[in-house]
Amino acid sequence: MEKKKILIVEDEKNIAQVLAFNLMQAGYAFDIASDGEEGLKKALTGNFDLILLDLMLPKMDGFTVCRGIRMRLDTPIIMVTAKEEEIDKIMGLDLGADDYVTKPFSINLLLARIKANIRRASNEVITGKTAGSVITIRDLVIDNEKYLVKKNGQEISLSKIEYDLVSYLAQNEGKPFTREALLSAVWGYDDFYGDKRTVDVTISRLRAKLETDPSHPEYIFSKHGMGYYLA
Ligand code: CA
Repeated sequence: MEKKKILIVEDEKNIAQVLAFNLMQAGYAFDIASDGEEGLKKALTGNFDLILLDLMLPKMDGFTVCRGIRMRLDTPIIMVTAKEEEIDKIMGLDLGADDYVTKPFSINLLLARIKANIRRASNEVITGKTAGSVITIRDLVIDNEKYLVKKNGQEISLSKIEYDLVSYLAQNEGKPFTREALLSAVWGYDDFYGDKRTVDVTISRLRAKLETDPSHPEYIFSKHGMGYYLA
């Protein structure tokens, strides 16, 4: 099987080298871009399976690079931030990043995230993509044949992870899932490696897109201590 190819967008040379070394050891091919402009250019032309994107970069910051990639490609993007506080900003901006890690990161954690994101992108994780059915819940239609979601006949623009999540919940209508269970089933993470906030933030983005009033949800509910469910 051909090696999966990863783009490292990182201006700190020692970090880029450590990443490159570990990716190589783990059996990946890689390329390195050392500023934002080069990162965007390579991302759009290099046919990568995943992009590791540092936030603070010369010439063009990671936010702009991420948006630029998302306008054209669905390649999984893991944002790498130096500060824990930046995570909320990244998630709040809905840049289309699939995941994030903070520096200093454990290389094992990062490799686990990389593997899970590549698997999910290539549909190896069991989600709606394999079900091939159309689920209707009142005004909401989750079409697992065409991979789209409609409300009142209008298609709703969802990121891949948002679609995977709503599709998974729809296939298990009424059944609550803990955040750990969703990280495992939808994101493909082992409990240990996932960040539960990823689930909360993706749920709130889905609510913002699907619900008439996101603060009084009519589709995606949360049950205290039980988790999230669609009904
Ligand atoms: Ca940097």
